[in-house]
Amino acid sequence: MTDETRPVCLITGASRGIGAATAIKAAGAGYDLVLNYAENAEAAQSVAADCHALGAEVALVQADVGTAAGVQKVFAESDRVFGRLDAVIPNAGITGTASALVDASIETIQHTIDLNVTGAILTVQEGLKRMLISKGGRGGSVVMLSSAAVWIGSPDNFTWYAASKGAIDSFVLGLGREVSGDGVRVNAVAPGLIETDIHASGGLPDRLQKLSGSVPIGRSGTADEVADAILYLMSDEARYIAGAVLRVTGGR
Ligand code: NAP
Repeated sequence: MTDETRPVCLITGASRGIGAATAIKAAGAGYDLVLNYAENAEAAQSVAADCHALGAEVALVQADVGTAAGVQKVFAESDRVFGRLDAVIPNAGITGTASALVDASIETIQHTIDLNVTGAILTVQEGLKRMLISKGGRGGSVVMLSSAAVWIGSPDNFTWYAASKGAIDSFVLGLGREVSGDGVRVNAVAPGLIETDIHASGGLPDRLQKLSGSVPIGRSGTADEVADAILYLMSDEARYIAGAVLRVTGGR
């Protein structure tokens, strides 16, 4: 039996990077957690253990949230373990392998859009079914992951990724207006150059080293610094913020 008075936060892609940092901060802030990952069970279990040590109940769910079945699996486990929900962070995202668009494979483009756009939207849709006051929920918050790629465009590397994040900005604007009168605030953070595995996974392991000098603050950012912004948007201190995209870019 879990404690009904504790808020529950669901985070996709929580085994590494920004998702993992957000999970640990949310645990410290008193949330119980539904944590999703794709493949890296060991890293996911380590994050879950850290959250548990901070007092959180944790449901850990392996699922590919780039598919509708994967999204359903995450929410089925959330319903089974907690049966309540207060915050959703559709964080799982990929860039695909860096290249000019003409050289990118159809699979790279499709997989990126499936996860970053369709999967994120379906995750929010399932979250709303449980959080909207008109659907019997108790209200809540959604924080999505946009990117500085939206206004930079990522030419020569990840134009399809930039497009996927542009879609998130439009979605946050519309949905923020659609549901904020029904108890749920929808916002996003737009991180800049953040120290996670995503750059190496996209085939550019020295990307941070090459570009961090161009950041006005003078360095790349950490996953913790993005997590702080996510926790702020989730919190009651952000109670009058809806449909907004907060840049977390060191001024980039
Ligand atoms: P990351 O370090 O590469 O971690 C990615 C996370 O997503 C991992 O937990 C991974 O799980 C999970 N994941 C990948 N594919 C998945 C799938 N199909 N289903 C479920 N989980 C999946 O990424 P990050 O840098 O923290 O990025 C997090 C979010 O921030 C993304 O949406 C990204 O676009 C956005 N962002 C990042 C930056 C940056 O500079 N880092 C900048 C702007 C925006 P496994 O461990 O199991 O593989």
